[in-house]
Amino acid sequence: MRNMDSYASTVNECLNRIDTVMTHVPQESKEVQENLQELREMVHKLTFRADSIDVYSLNYFFKDVDEKISSGCVADYVACRFDLRRFSVVNHQFGREMGTKILNEYIVRLQKGLGVDGCVCRIHGDTFAIFFKKERLSYVMEYLSGATIEIEQQYWKKITLRTHAGYYEILDGKSAEEIMDRIGMAWNTAKYVQRVPYLFFTEELMEAVENEKWVENVFEDAIKNEEFLVYYQPKVKLKKYRLSGAEALCRWKHDGELIMPYRFIPVLEQSNLICELDFYMLEHVCRDMSRWLKEGRPLVRVSVNMSRVHLGDANLVEHILEIVDNYKIPHSYIELELTETMTEVDFRELKQVVIALRMQGFSVAVDDFGVGYSSLNLLREMPWKVLKIDKGFLPEGSGDEDADTQKKVMLKHIIGMAQNLGLECIAEGVETVEQITILKENNCYLAQGYLFDRPLPVDVFEERLDALA
Ligand code: C2E
Ligand code: MG
Ligand code: MG
Repeated sequence: MRNMDSYASTVNECLNRIDTVMTHVPQESKEVQENLQELREMVHKLTFRADSIDVYSLNYFFKDVDEKISSGCVADYVACRFDLRRFSVVNHQFGREMGTKILNEYIVRLQKGLGVDGCVCRIHGDTFAIFFKKERLSYVMEYLSGATIEIEQQYWKKITLRTHAGYYEILDGKSAEEIMDRIGMAWNTAKYVQRVPYLFFTEELMEAVENEKWVENVFEDAIKNEEFLVYYQPKVKLKKYRLSGAEALCRWKHDGELIMPYRFIPVLEQSNLICELDFYMLEHVCRDMSRWLKEGRPLVRVSVNMSRVHLGDANLVEHILEIVDNYKIPHSYIELELTETMTEVDFRELKQVVIALRMQGFSVAVDDFGVGYSSLNLLREMPWKVLKIDKGFLPEGSGDEDADTQKKVMLKHIIGMAQNLGLECIAEGVETVEQITILKENNCYLAQGYLFDRPLPVDVFEERLDALA
């Protein structure tokens, strides 16, 4: 971030020399004194002020933080990196010149609000780093969450500027670079990962970001080395407690450790890497099934999770067909689990995918029904075969009777609705005998959960298959 060390010392050297010359100029040479003072201010401005708006440059941020570290008072301060949300729209609406004026007004007000101990420094464009006393934190948070600027253009207008921000309440004498990294990390995670207006830097956040980097760096090698394993979680028919199918769930065996999906699936979902993993899982499931067929084992339907990141892929169905047909697995034995979508575009794409998969004879399940933004149109407009009810709808029997009563009512109606629409209904995350009783009372005869089995390594699952014969 900074190639500042030698630069800063050159600037300081320059300022020191001007100071030395000034001490040698006699008091009566007023004009020379004034010229030198102006020269000093120009050097300062060129070094520490950004150009088009009235703000410090990033060099000043490092200089100011370094000074506070040296004087031992850095722990009284907060640092923050922010950018303006959709500022390009403001530029587009009012023109660049007015955009710059608005930005200037916004920054000057913020600088005033930070007081004499604070500074606003421009990183680039509409991205800034600020450094201020801890007692100003609530003011800053309010200002950055939304500040209204009035502008005069034909008629008076008001616009509210909002930001994405990453804060770090400094604890000790970290270096200025480390402080910069920390606010960058918090800002980046707020803006691009969690999509929230702001985040504070914490050690957990740093661990999460390090985990992310690690996953991204080692993923390709892990795929090549086949470190990802398919675990099979049985699905059970409640009438005679017989195996009816299984869900393929991914486990990552790395250096002897078994890593669970929560540590890598969300990271892979931030990029297209998840698609690679899903196809890998489908391929390995087909490979296992093809072997079971050769070995004369009974076959059950196996479901594979397909992330919603696939929805932009026009060749998704073709790719699935290629893998399944390569292993000559009858399509009716493969199920794809898809989760509900949030946007209208996704909805349309999801609908096309569900229709195309069903036309090819695959089973298709809505996964985790009821946790996201489930819409009834999702069920009405798409030819699903299976509805997987999320474990959140199962009464827990933990003492919260109101919540349990509510869940029972919803469960009953979800199951009723699914069955009226001709869908198979399966409950996920079944852990207790009481839950089985409730499911049966409501005519739901398929379940998956720890009560029966956890996700099993392939050899243990094969024993379950063999017991069917
Ligand atoms: P999911 O698809 O909803 O899978 C069910 C999750 O619930 C699994 O967690 C399973 O182990 C867990 N589960 C099953 N029965 C019980 C129970 O009785 N109680 C509780 N508390 N949990 C139960 P797992 O294996 O950790 O997977 C978590 C999520 O990670 C999955 O949720 C799925 O969204 C994702 N995932 C796993 N493998 C893959 C994969 O290959 N591709 C994609 N795209 N996602 C995957
Ligand atoms: Mg699933
Ligand atoms: Mg699920």
